[in-house]
Amino acid sequence: MIMAFVVGHPIAHSRSPLIHGHWLAEHRIAGSYERLDVAPADFADFLHALPASGFAGGNVTIPHKEAAFALADELTPRARAIGAVNTLVVKEGRLLGDNTDAPGFCAHLDHDLGAGWPGRGAAVILGAGGAARAIVVGLAERGVRRILVANRTPARAEAVAALAPGVAEALAWDDLPAAMAGAGLLVNTTSLGMKGQPPLDLDLAPLPAGAAVADIVYAPLETPLLAAARARGLAAVDGLGMLLHQAVPGFAAWFGVRPAVTPALRDRIVADLAP
Ligand code: NAP
Repeated sequence: MIMAFVVGHPIAHSRSPLIHGHWLAEHRIAGSYERLDVAPADFADFLHALPASGFAGGNVTIPHKEAAFALADELTPRARAIGAVNTLVVKEGRLLGDNTDAPGFCAHLDHDLGAGWPGRGAAVILGAGGAARAIVVGLAERGVRRILVANRTPARAEAVAALAPGVAEALAWDDLPAAMAGAGLLVNTTSLGMKGQPPLDLDLAPLPAGAAVADIVYAPLETPLLAAARARGLAAVDGLGMLLHQAVPGFAAWFGVRPAVTPALRDRIVADLAP
């Protein structure tokens, strides 16, 4: 019996058990994947006990991604570049920390836009939190030549842009219309548009006709931003694909089978997200 987990605080909202449970059943693996609610004050003790706990590893979510980064025994180059860990693998008594949000986001763009998307033009990123860090590193890794980061708190945009020197730059929110005119991709990584939050109030008119708009918010799946993009005839990429694709490397490492993101899996999570 192989055991894995997702750890966060709170954790009841996490869809990860549904995703991994779907794959465990699909591949008839004798395994488990459970939610663990661990308060920040207890997280270091939790990690120290992990190698001897019988778990093969697990996912790490809010608010523990930075602490997992600081406390892992080894880091993948991508986790080191991003400064946060969302996937832990127990390997010979040591904790290996990875960050799969970046390849997860890019895998979904490949699926929805085709592999040529990195050459579409500049990418404009809204927001400068943990998800933005992963996405900026992921886009730079995939060869996007110019990335502009705008955030409510400008200093955080500067810090995120510094993760991809020579490629990424901070952008003042007021300069968004001009930047959007040269963009091939606009990505919302703020929590605006999420259930319970105000919508992201942004006029998409300056974007060129061939641009794509991605929103990593997935509850609701169709955010007002994506609806506005579709209304303008632009490609609209929802946030669920990132959530599904980021789960693949962890499952492969813990359970030994590389699973696929299938329409059946997506339908299952969409049904769970339905109001
Ligand atoms: P985070 O680190 O807390 O960052 C939140 C970002 O949203 C910051 O840039 C913050 O700006 C901005 N923001 C919040 N309220 C705002 C407001 N009223 N006006 C303008 N900007 C505002 O969060 P995160 O982990 O990056 O996650 C951000 C969103 O992405 C969440 O909705 C989360 O659910 C989603 N997400 C989705 C996936 C996926 O797999 N699809 C993965 C990770 C996250 P300041 O810096 O100014 O505070």
